[in-house]
Amino acid sequence: TVAPQTRKFEAEVAQVLHLVTHSLYSHKEIFLRELISNASDACDKLRFEAIANPSLSEGDADLHVDITFDADARTLTLRDNGIGMSRDEVIENIGTIARSGTRKFLESLSGDSRKDTQLIGQFGVGFYSAFIVADKVTLVTRRAGADASEGVKWESDGTGEYTISAVADAPRGTSVTLHLKEDESEFLNRWTLRSLVSKYSDHIAFPIRLPKEEEGKLTDEFETVNHVAALWTRPKSELKDEDYQSFYKALSHDFNDAASWTHNRVEGNQSYTVLLYLPSKPPFDAMFSGRDERKGLKLYIRRVFIMDASEQLLPAYLRFMRGVVDSDDLPLNVSREILQDNRLVAQIRSACIKRSLDLLEKLANDDAEKFQAFIDSFGNVLKEGIAEDAANRERIAKLLRFASTRSEGQTRTVSLDDYIGRMVAGQEAIYYVSADSFAAAKGSPQIEALRSRGIEVLLMIDRIDEWMLGYLNEYNGKRLRNAAKGDIDLTAIAGGDDKDAREAAAKAAEPVVARLKELLGERVKDVRISQRLTDSPSCLVLDEYDMALHLQRLMREAGH
Ligand code: ADP
Ligand code: MG
Repeated sequence: TVAPQTRKFEAEVAQVLHLVTHSLYSHKEIFLRELISNASDACDKLRFEAIANPSLSEGDADLHVDITFDADARTLTLRDNGIGMSRDEVIENIGTIARSGTRKFLESLSGDSRKDTQLIGQFGVGFYSAFIVADKVTLVTRRAGADASEGVKWESDGTGEYTISAVADAPRGTSVTLHLKEDESEFLNRWTLRSLVSKYSDHIAFPIRLPKEEEGKLTDEFETVNHVAALWTRPKSELKDEDYQSFYKALSHDFNDAASWTHNRVEGNQSYTVLLYLPSKPPFDAMFSGRDERKGLKLYIRRVFIMDASEQLLPAYLRFMRGVVDSDDLPLNVSREILQDNRLVAQIRSACIKRSLDLLEKLANDDAEKFQAFIDSFGNVLKEGIAEDAANRERIAKLLRFASTRSEGQTRTVSLDDYIGRMVAGQEAIYYVSADSFAAAKGSPQIEALRSRGIEVLLMIDRIDEWMLGYLNEYNGKRLRNAAKGDIDLTAIAGGDDKDAREAAAKAAEPVVARLKELLGERVKDVRISQRLTDSPSCLVLDEYDMALHLQRLMREAGH
């Protein structure tokens, strides 16, 4: 055997540990949810690996999570008979933070503990939450399939180091023992533990067991205290809002309630269940990880967890959605490659898109405040859908909100339908102008004439807008037009135009125009008399098909 080794945590781990223990105290109960969720993940993984390699179950396929405590020793132990970990896996999983967004997460902390707590909640603290209530944690584990002598013991007080040593006869799976801090005795109580399991972990699909109580005494026998059925398999009529919310929180590690959800069983040429949640706050990974490391939609096949399949089941512009898909018909040995190119998966994917858009539409109609919060957090993500999902373009466009010359402040509140409802007599197009900021857009000289005629102009002030507008030429039969491009004909519009006066003014200005052309020479394509302006003497205008000024500037900044 190898002698016990003391090792240092990765710098990020030490930082996260410090943060967790100091800022999450008011949410301390979540440690139990996190540890149960790890135990349940470990059972999921064993069940999945045993599909290809049945010997891994070692004749013990009855997976469960046992919670015991010892009031005298002040310890609380969670034991699962799931997949377990090898020594390398313990070092990799518990001693480092594998998640790629961790550094960005740490950089984004503000020092304001209220905001940070929120962020840490969205980040999902996982295993380290044990140190909120424990001053020492001992983990003993053995990987399924490994020899009984290949057990591993990991121990740490959660400050900067841990020790790791070999264990001669560890059972398969993992036990985590918390040595509780002085004032955390409340968790050494069956009733408390039982109610925490009901509150946070009732939906776990494996039995969570506590020692049986007989005549006020705990026995050596165990009793299952959760529902055991995976939440999405239970009839909707049996489920309360609280059940959905607590499942959402466990699924997403979010502290906040979900904004809404949709739960459906589909039976037909293929059968599956979809449970999708719309978060109310941006989940950590939707904010910080790239579009290619998306997570949040779990694929189950006949109740067996297979993998996170967000990329296969949802397009990138819906990456804020969270949930579960459980298919009856896909083969258990499905791989990512098969998922990528499978007819059944394609059907499920379009159902997920449809349900997500349904949820958003419903929220927009029923709860303006929540919908606005959604737009503030995810509006720009949704805009990607205009380019990416031609089939649903009109539905997505309907959900978008913009700032406009009519809206107050910079919040994006104006929908294209609102805009169309306010179009003036004779107006045929939806006008917009794009700029780097709200002030610059609103003050654009190119829109003076439109504004003076009472015509609303949408203000495109987000980086993604110009790209998106390249795919959104029309909405509801109305063209979208850049007010800074090409000729704008205002003759048909109410309060429009005095042709004689315009021609007289043009005539009078001819010498000025000629002089300007001479002076500006090659630097401009043309100098024209404009209908756009009321107060400013001149403005820059692009030809209809030129790249927007503000996009030209972005391209220059990017070195093009
Ligand atoms: P997450 O569960 O989000 O990956 P955690 O901090 O909760 O993050 O856990 C880190 C990793 O440690 C897990 O991904 C898993 O690989 C490993 N782990 C934790 N608990 C267990 C367990 N009971 N059995 C097996 N592996 C575990
Ligand atoms: Mg976890």
